Amino acid sequence: MPWVNQEMCNGCGICMDECPVEAITLNEMNKAQIDEESCIRCAKCHDVCPEDAVRHDSEKIPEQVEENLEKTRKLLEYYDTSAEQQAFIERMIRYFNKERKVTEFTIEKLKALKAGMAGSAAS
Ligand code: SF4
Ligand code: SF4
Repeated sequence: MPWVNQEMCNGCGICMDECPVEAITLNEMNKAQIDEESCIRCAKCHDVCPEDAVRHDSEKIPEQVEENLEKTRKLLEYYDTSAEQQAFIERMIRYFNKERKVTEFTIEKLKALKAGMAGSAAS
């Protein structure tokens, strides 16, 4: 999912003109913002931005990890004893392991889908 670095965006609107599904608007600060629900991940905004302000998802990994840790820390406050807290953290680890498996299996299926498309295009 692309996102716009607000400090780099100059509000030129070029990305808005190129977006095929009108997923980009200018906010009150005259900076582009992308509506995640509408975006079809075509990457055109990334390709046309003269300021390189449309950034890749991978740059948000540290931020998302910190969000997960922060959420865990907040929920930890509901548990009094060290044993309860450790059991809770174990459940969070199981949850993120499940998420990892969902991601890994999805990637496998997507690769198979891509390979199937390449095969039918060649025949
Ligand atoms: S093209 Fe780049 S600089 Fe221009 S509005 Fe879009 S994100 Fe901002
Ligand atoms: S990736 Fe494509 S659909 Fe999504 S905001 Fe950019 S131009 Fe629009």
